[in-house]
Amino acid sequence: MNQPLLRVVVDTPLRRSFDYLPAAEGALPAPGCRVRVPFGNRALIGVIISIESQSDVPASKLKRIHEVIDDAPIFDEPLLALLRWASDYYHHPLGEVVATALPKLAREGARLGARVECFGLTTSGREALAAGEPRRAAKQRRVLEWLRDHDDGAGVPATALAELTGWREAARALQAKDWIHVGERAVPSAAQLAGGEPAAVQPPALSAEQAAAVEAVGLRDPNAFHAWLLHGITGSGKTEVYLRLAAAALARGRRVLVLVPEIGLTPQLVGRFAHRFPDVPYTVMHSGLTDTLRLSAWRATSDGSARLVLGTRSAVFAPVPDLGLMIVDEEHDASFKQQEGGFRYSARDLAVVRAQALGIPIILGSATPGLESLHNVASGRYTRLHLPRRAANAQPPMLRLVDLRAERVHAGLSTTAVTTMQQHLADGGQVLVYINRRGYAPTLACTACGWVAPCQACDARLTVYRNAGRLRCHHCGADRELPRQCPQCGYAVKTVGQGTERVEETLAETFPGVAIARLDRDVVRRSDELAAVMTRVASGEARILVGTQMVAKGHDFPAVTLVVVLNADQGLFNTDFRAAERLAQTIVQVAGRAGRGERAGLVLIQTEYPEHPLLAGLLEGGYDAFATAALEERRAAGWPPFSRLAALRASATQAPQAIAFLEAARALAPEILRRHAAPLKLLGPAPAAMAKRAGRHHAQLLIESAERGALHRFLDHWLPAVEALPEARRVRFALDVDPLELF
Ligand code: ADP
Ligand code: ZN
Ligand code: ZN
Repeated sequence: MNQPLLRVVVDTPLRRSFDYLPAAEGALPAPGCRVRVPFGNRALIGVIISIESQSDVPASKLKRIHEVIDDAPIFDEPLLALLRWASDYYHHPLGEVVATALPKLAREGARLGARVECFGLTTSGREALAAGEPRRAAKQRRVLEWLRDHDDGAGVPATALAELTGWREAARALQAKDWIHVGERAVPSAAQLAGGEPAAVQPPALSAEQAAAVEAVGLRDPNAFHAWLLHGITGSGKTEVYLRLAAAALARGRRVLVLVPEIGLTPQLVGRFAHRFPDVPYTVMHSGLTDTLRLSAWRATSDGSARLVLGTRSAVFAPVPDLGLMIVDEEHDASFKQQEGGFRYSARDLAVVRAQALGIPIILGSATPGLESLHNVASGRYTRLHLPRRAANAQPPMLRLVDLRAERVHAGLSTTAVTTMQQHLADGGQVLVYINRRGYAPTLACTACGWVAPCQACDARLTVYRNAGRLRCHHCGADRELPRQCPQCGYAVKTVGQGTERVEETLAETFPGVAIARLDRDVVRRSDELAAVMTRVASGEARILVGTQMVAKGHDFPAVTLVVVLNADQGLFNTDFRAAERLAQTIVQVAGRAGRGERAGLVLIQTEYPEHPLLAGLLEGGYDAFATAALEERRAAGWPPFSRLAALRASATQAPQAIAFLEAARALAPEILRRHAAPLKLLGPAPAAMAKRAGRHHAQLLIESAERGALHRFLDHWLPAVEALPEARRVRFALDVDPLELF
């Protein structure tokens, strides 16, 4: 009998797995376990994907693994299958897909087993530190201080010390002096209980539509796949439906996974789950966590101690055992699609695949569902649950267009907007002002010669930050001093247009004494800063909130009675076929912040194109009518969801190299199409709309097919040939299946 072999993937861009001999001693590890393997002259962490009896590699050349890291698989069979599926569908190497699914420390081999090495101060160590020792060994001192500050009584795990450089050596020296002790403890688990008072408040009685939605899901077999689109207008109480369905799944002893676009922007959602289920341990996974916290959140998930897991995009891979329900909130949100790097997956789409494979229900919720999802409803793949009315008697807001051509406009604010704001503020309402640009002004221009401040590294203008006295690029991060005169002719310079900073300044002048809060990526770099802004608005201290898209996302500020959209026109004439959908979603979502409480809401949309069909349609028929018309246009033009797209994107330091690579890639296609007759079209290559970004020139080639299978067959044969092209070595490139943005 042949000796069993371990088939392993490692975190490299190679599209293949590697076979190894198991260790000479010990039990055979199962698929889904991590192993440390020799790889060239390095040692890498890999994951076993299967046990084989035969290899293409001659037996004499097979190497033995160094060690098995996990006693039990860290990926169960269904999760491994999902990762394989994602690797096939996105045509991305399995090793990198697996790496995406793991927190960094787990990728580096951190043990998830029941016990970890941990450190703590001894009494003499504590006394030495208090006495100011050690005086010279700075690293040792850091370690002592760290242990003093971070020890919760059970010791600090080694993974938590890893942030200190040279800690291991320092720890050894400290141990020799008997200033610290080393032991083992259970890996700290990040599952937490909501704490505070248990939910004293009774959940509200459901509205008829909410009850119908909960009932419809409940009537189905909970152990069978079904995809539901919870299409509820803003303020209709979608969260309450999630909570009831989650309660039912938890009551069946199953676990629940909730995906949200950005934790920072949906603090209320996490809070509402935690509050409703005070006795259910939960964990939160998102990119704002330190590596150590991520590892322990992951561990709390994988060992089953967390029964409720809430997370952003990559949490779709969270190893939740016995998963019984998945929820994707704001399913239309673009942040569910990874748009950078090599592995460009859609967490929303993978969530549906995962639910299908597990045979469990999935709820996709939104006030503005993506056109793909609505199409899936129309074709019967998803079932729509409709919440057409606001919960708790709130009325949907009134929308009105303000024609900027017919008004006096000062710094972007029309007279109508100013007078209406005055009324609402006088009546005790709060006002939200939305503008899709941060900074003071998008352009700095010369008053004499026509010079505008350009970014040297991008095809873009520099944004003016007047308070900071800087010019900054939003694409590459370039940052320089704000010039006082034109560098070309020496004449005076002026700012053109407005961003949030300038609107805030204008509002402060127009409404003296009224407290204003601002919300954009410049104000809010950390989640506590976001919380501070939210508190100012929620408490009513700030009466006006001005901000970018960040203000549109799911906030529930009941006192907001007026929303002003400063400029709806960016996006009306964008060439990307998804631009209209995105604009409609943003307008409806921002508008949805108005009138969520007792008083009715009003939304003013400033535009120079009041007769534009998109705006006129939205006003007349709302999002549903817009979506129906937009889907018809997509059908006529053969765009997704009526066709399938993939984009091969390339960038190079010189523009011709990116184009030459894509042309060579395109030239490979006819031969493949001859052999595998697939009905598809190649479009391009073409430079990206903003071709130069951060000093690199970007271009793309689109592949479009009416048939998903045909597209993927083609990609299977084409990509390896593309990767082997000599031109490929001079560019960076990535394949983007189901691209969201065509730039
Ligand atoms: P959505 O997520 O659909 O925009 P929310 O879930 O934030 O809406 O609900 C809007 C508001 O209505 C919240 O303050 C929520 O507590 C309240 N609400 C939801 N359902 C009910 C209900 N059945 N009765 C009373 N209030 C409700
Ligand atoms: Zn000039
Ligand atoms: Zn730039």
